[in-house]
Amino acid sequence: MRVSWDGARLAFRLDPEDEITGRAADGHPVKLRIAECAIGGVPDDAHPDLFAVAAWTVVAPWTRKRVTFDRAVSERVAEALHDGWGVEAEPVRAEPRRQGRVLAISYSGGADSVAAAAIFPEAPFVHFRRAPHPRVPNRWTHYRSDVLAELARRTGRELTTVTSDLEFTLAEPRPGYPEHHAVAAGALLLADRMDLGGLAFGYELGSRWLGGDRYLLRFTPDNPMWAPHGQWGRLFAAAGVPIVLPVGGVSEAVTMRLALGSELRDQVRWCLRGTDGPCRTCGKCLYKEIIQAAVERRPLDTPLTADRAVVRKWLRRPPYGGMEMIEYGLARIPGVEESVLAGALDHFAATEASTGWLEHCYPPALAEIPEPWREPVSAFMADDTGLMTPAQARRVEEWGS
Ligand SMILES: [Zn+2]
Repeated sequence: MRVSWDGARLAFRLDPEDEITGRAADGHPVKLRIAECAIGGVPDDAHPDLFAVAAWTVVAPWTRKRVTFDRAVSERVAEALHDGWGVEAEPVRAEPRRQGRVLAISYSGGADSVAAAAIFPEAPFVHFRRAPHPRVPNRWTHYRSDVLAELARRTGRELTTVTSDLEFTLAEPRPGYPEHHAVAAGALLLADRMDLGGLAFGYELGSRWLGGDRYLLRFTPDNPMWAPHGQWGRLFAAAGVPIVLPVGGVSEAVTMRLALGSELRDQVRWCLRGTDGPCRTCGKCLYKEIIQAAVERRPLDTPLTADRAVVRKWLRRPPYGGMEMIEYGLARIPGVEESVLAGALDHFAATEASTGWLEHCYPPALAEIPEPWREPVSAFMADDTGLMTPAQARRVEEWGS
């Protein structure tokens, strides 16, 4: 793979051994559509390691043996690429980047990142906003990146909005991040200007420890995307921007409760479709409504009927990503047996006791937060959720086995 930057415009060229269809760190196949993209709202004089890691968040799935950058990287970043991916990076000559002091939050506006923001009320936000690609038609016009960016602006926090068309580098499965970490490409390029020493993400217990989303669905202490000792954790740390997961030890029930109790409550938005408010009919709206109803102890409020595909998705036989929150909802939503979710009761014997672990913090998640941010998160969780008991922590560690 050959990578070159023209300002903040990234172009890459595959080597003969590279492949058009590669795999992201979560194992998901991704097919390349176009080998160029741009990042807006960032400086063009960042440390070369930052350019390298930002580029790697886009090109990693398609790179097999080596990556040639247009400017020399440090030995530290080259080592992380070698150890993490078996890829030889060149040229290697730069001094490592000095780690800064500021923690920024990669802010999407969803409940999880609002919860992370509630733990660090002074942290600046970096918001990724999808922009159209000049050479790829946008078949995803319902995706309202403008609405999300406006909500981020209204939080009143120090905010840098990065615009990028990098999601259009993917032909399949659809436009999206080649690696989950591509959401941070802009934040990486801003790291010198913002004096960043860490970047916080809203990934919660399910994503970090339960192999959630499109991943493994089992206990994942060595999660390659989010563990500090995983390939991505080591690479970000090598560039002086270690990954920080303030809510990595708590479930989406906790992040939802924190977000709804936060001063940013009015700006929380997980739906990518609605303009005046969430659309209430997409799969994400339903999933979050299940969690919110459970947290607020009220009946499910949805216009959807049980025959809709977005509902049937949550009625299928486990395992699937997010099933712990369906179970949580079944145990706590009043009248759930008469709701569209009733069919899911066949698959779970959920009780408040059996799902109580989802209201506390998994202690190893605190231990892996880098200093100086470990202490404030630990104090917050001790005060707010309390720690899981050893028996509850075993629910995490036996997940999927
Ligand atoms: Zn929606």
